[in-house]
Amino acid sequence: MSWFVRKEKGINTPTEMKREAPDGLWYQCPSCKKIMHTREHKLSAYTCAHCNYHDKVGSEAYFELLFDNNEFTELDANLHSGDPLNFIDTKPYPDRIRATMLKTGLKDAVRTAHGKMNEIDITIACMDFNFIGGSMGSVVGEKIARAIDYSLQNKQPFLMISRSGGARMMEAGLSLMQMAKTSAKLALLSEGKVPYISLLTDPTTGGVTASYAMLGDFNISEPGALIGFAGPRVIRETIGKDLPKGFQSAEFVLEHGFLDFIVDRKDLKDKLSSLLKILY
Ligand SMILES: [Zn+2]
Repeated sequence: MSWFVRKEKGINTPTEMKREAPDGLWYQCPSCKKIMHTREHKLSAYTCAHCNYHDKVGSEAYFELLFDNNEFTELDANLHSGDPLNFIDTKPYPDRIRATMLKTGLKDAVRTAHGKMNEIDITIACMDFNFIGGSMGSVVGEKIARAIDYSLQNKQPFLMISRSGGARMMEAGLSLMQMAKTSAKLALLSEGKVPYISLLTDPTTGGVTASYAMLGDFNISEPGALIGFAGPRVIRETIGKDLPKGFQSAEFVLEHGFLDFIVDRKDLKDKLSSLLKILY
């Protein structure tokens, strides 16, 4: 009997043929390592059903989550970066920009749009961490400034969703100027009595924390988000002291008065709408 003897030698099945489930059907939480269905994960606003870990999502997900029926008009969708300093690190800056655009389908690290959220007119700017670490360069600063102008002209509230490693080093001083520019625009918004809500998501650091992210009429955050200016190692070396555990978590920052409240992403749209209704 030779039923179980393979007659042909050297048969190889490529790994992708061995899958029993289609790719992307399951999501594994990076925090608790438990598995859930991708559809279920999306339905709970990309949070984990087991430990409530808030996955790092970008503008596409937030726009879909917040704008009614995912209907919105994008502002300055085609603004993209130049290379004013002829900057080269491991590769020339224009090459890095081009490669990132191809990989992410984005033009830069922020998208701005206006539409309705629970029937309230609103302008939203949302950062994309996938684009060079959500770094703030001239395009990010300019798009935010123009979105604030739109808010002011149309007297509709402005929501900024930050997720960033800070200023973009490839634009050096020009990146830092964006802090002043966006802050000045926000001051005009404040004078015009138009509400500004800043949502800090995981992570919000560097020049973004030091400018528009902390200038909201309300500064709010998602649970467990890392919020800080410099990284723990830099601070430890500067002040020569050990730092309290978890001192850059949203919860710690809230306890020390830098945030107004922490909001679960599943409740974000309704909480924001109630808040804006109180303000108007
Ligand atoms: Zn989890």
